[in-house]
Amino acid sequence: MLELRGLRVTYGATVAVNTIDLDVPAGQATALLGANGAGKTSTLRAISRLIPSEGKILFDGEEVTRLAPETLASRGLIHVPEGRHVFSALTVHENLQVGQTARSGRTTIFDLADVYELFPPLVPLRKRLGWALSGGEQQMVAIGRALMSAPRLLMLDEPSLGLAPVVVQAVYAALARVKSQMPILLVEQNAAVALSLCDRGYVLLSGDIALQGSAADLSDRDAMLDSYLGHGADEPEPSTT
Ligand code: ATP
Repeated sequence: MLELRGLRVTYGATVAVNTIDLDVPAGQATALLGANGAGKTSTLRAISRLIPSEGKILFDGEEVTRLAPETLASRGLIHVPEGRHVFSALTVHENLQVGQTARSGRTTIFDLADVYELFPPLVPLRKRLGWALSGGEQQMVAIGRALMSAPRLLMLDEPSLGLAPVVVQAVYAALARVKSQMPILLVEQNAAVALSLCDRGYVLLSGDIALQGSAADLSDRDAMLDSYLGHGADEPEPSTT
């Protein structure tokens, strides 16, 4: 569904992504793992054409490397960025409705009722404004809004970041249901949670793919994975949002 061939991202003299190949097959969830600064967000932003890159990007077999971000979104390549970006002055319901406007005639798999069913904590919060939501609620709204736009491929940047374990569990339970309906490219630092959802994974290390394989393979190589992900000293503190 998505193929990267020789994707390279630089910021001046900094090489963020060093000429990588990556595939997201239809019908599967693919994880892109790596420590802070490994190049994960830059890869997603390059795929969405939010930043310039070298190399080729193919979406559903067609080269999209030169398309504008809004054109790609209208073709169904939908990106949920890190930090959630919920509209603070809109209610939960209005935020979800905004997603509908990016459907471009595609038939949706998830309508409003499905999104509320996927994220039950949002039901009593329909009228709450975006700014008054917790981090976990914002993440649910951001994913729900993306689903409302009928993605053909869903890209998620660190959906577990800063969330309490119980909220991470709720978000990933929902993503497990989403996965049966559309391919996913998931960026995470939290390898365990990502590999519990995904079929395959890639591990970025300073812009290079250091390791790739099935989720089972990668989970078995626990110690190696830990060293690539820099776990230990700089493990983020769990938050309670
Ligand atoms: P994180 O999990 O911390 O977001 P990441 O794996 O997503 O990390 P990127 O944000 O893609 O990594 O960053 C890759 C490299 O590019 C890092 O060295 C980072 O400092 C650098 N970088 C990212 N954005 C910019 C920018 N706008 N200008 C200059 N350098 C940048």
